[in-house]
Amino acid sequence: IRLDRVAHAYLFAGTRGVGKTTMARVLAKALNCEHGPTPDPCGTCSACLEITQGASMDIVEIDGASNRGIDEIRDLRETLRYLPSRGRYKVYIIDEVHMLTKEAFNALLKTLEEPPPHVVFIFATTELDKIPHTIISRCQRFEFKRVSLSGIVSQLEHIINNEGISISSTSLLRIAKAAEGSMRDAQSLFDQVVAYTGIEVDDREVGHLLGNVGSETLAQCLSAIIRQDAETALRTVDALQDEGHDAVSIIRALQEGLRHLIVLKTTDHPAELIPLSEADIDLLQHVAESASVEDIYGLFQVLVTSEQSLRGAGNPFLVLEMAVIRMARIGRVSSLDSILGALQNLEKGLPEPAAALQPIDIISEPPAAPAAAPPPAAPQQTAPVENEEPPRDRLQPPAPPLEPDAPPVPKAEPAPEPVSTLEPMPTSAVAPDDFWQALQENVTERRPMLGGFLQPGQVLTHSDTELVIGFAKGDDFFRTNLMERENLNVVQAAAEAVSGRSLQVKIVSLDDPKGHRDQAEEGPVEASRSPSANEELQQRKREVIQSVVDIFEGTIIT
Ligand SMILES: [Zn+2]
Repeated sequence: IRLDRVAHAYLFAGTRGVGKTTMARVLAKALNCEHGPTPDPCGTCSACLEITQGASMDIVEIDGASNRGIDEIRDLRETLRYLPSRGRYKVYIIDEVHMLTKEAFNALLKTLEEPPPHVVFIFATTELDKIPHTIISRCQRFEFKRVSLSGIVSQLEHIINNEGISISSTSLLRIAKAAEGSMRDAQSLFDQVVAYTGIEVDDREVGHLLGNVGSETLAQCLSAIIRQDAETALRTVDALQDEGHDAVSIIRALQEGLRHLIVLKTTDHPAELIPLSEADIDLLQHVAESASVEDIYGLFQVLVTSEQSLRGAGNPFLVLEMAVIRMARIGRVSSLDSILGALQNLEKGLPEPAAALQPIDIISEPPAAPAAAPPPAAPQQTAPVENEEPPRDRLQPPAPPLEPDAPPVPKAEPAPEPVSTLEPMPTSAVAPDDFWQALQENVTERRPMLGGFLQPGQVLTHSDTELVIGFAKGDDFFRTNLMERENLNVVQAAAEAVSGRSLQVKIVSLDDPKGHRDQAEEGPVEASRSPSANEELQQRKREVIQSVVDIFEGTIIT
């Protein structure tokens, strides 16, 4: 306006209640104010007042949802040739413009190609991607952001100060949060609350009206889950159900609670990132102290999976309760940092372990190149094979030494497998997603902790005879644990139970998907060592295992 470069069409895009039509009316005033055109319309002249009252003949507001056909747009075009009655411009504000039909857009496009000089269009939409590019390219486009939480709160504070309403900051935050970035929703929620409770607003009434899960109950439930107290966790969930919350909102509240716990554990100024009162944050802080970030993340994954199966479930509360039990029974996962630290100490304490035995390999990526020299005592062992061997073996108890006179079995070169085996090949009658879900549940029934370990994995191959599960590099901890023979057997049994046929299960790293070939290689590699080299290797393995047992105060079970 200041540069006298007013466009003929503006497009205001953004979520509902962020001020698009309000801004459109302000722009109309700026164009038609008697003291304008001016970026600062006076708001008091008769042109401005008429616009405020919705009585201006020169401002035409059209609801795109109810005037979406070509006939309405043709009628509109008919009116364009009339000059404005008193202002400088005729301003057409079309709200929800994405609702127009294709034909209506085409008719509109013709107008936009040759706009009359006295006409300004302002289109408002919540769904920018439904508007044809031909229209968008002829408009000046503005994208309206959601109103920030603090922006909504300060606007509401302005209202309570003007109207003498007493409300706690917790309730204000709850209302602002429920509005999800829409100032209009925040104001109407606030009006409802005041209409219901009067000017002395009670926190509990607000929670009830908004359908929020109370922070106290939420903290109780999360704390019980983390303490692995399934009974208390179930009781709190039942109590929430009695209060009238549905399964979806409870699961979302739990997810949000876990999110807050992670924020509390990973940021220096969590209060700015958690829209809760100080007292509620303190409550969660206590819960956060008894769990690691990895624990919480594992719980979060369970909820995400459960929320998906909640949709279409006959009894959603049953799914919710199973999720709660599962979370309460997931084994505590030591943080990777603490394991890494312990293993590094172990490495320092041991006398120069051979390359294959470097305990750090247990969780770090195996070296890609044959950098390490072969151990002198195992001359037949070639470095590349040593390095390709999966680290799983190193945590296992020593195998009985080979008979000294056992002839070395010649090592067979594995035939390279076609890359296509990595493509998902679901040949089972069960849909791939259902199979993966069912497999996880079956494993969880057998060993709850292993079920949790499986979650970050993904099915790479699922054929009649083979199931290959891949893990990203960051999930090496889960992968190596699952690759242990005993654990692999559990997964294998579960896979066979779910698919109803015999399946070869392989656990691989996504970064090294050919790794699953190594399992087939395992036998020959072991046997190809000379007896004395083998014994020395076994001795070193025993040392490493004993050190691991000492550090983690564990017991060898098998
Ligand atoms: Zn004015």
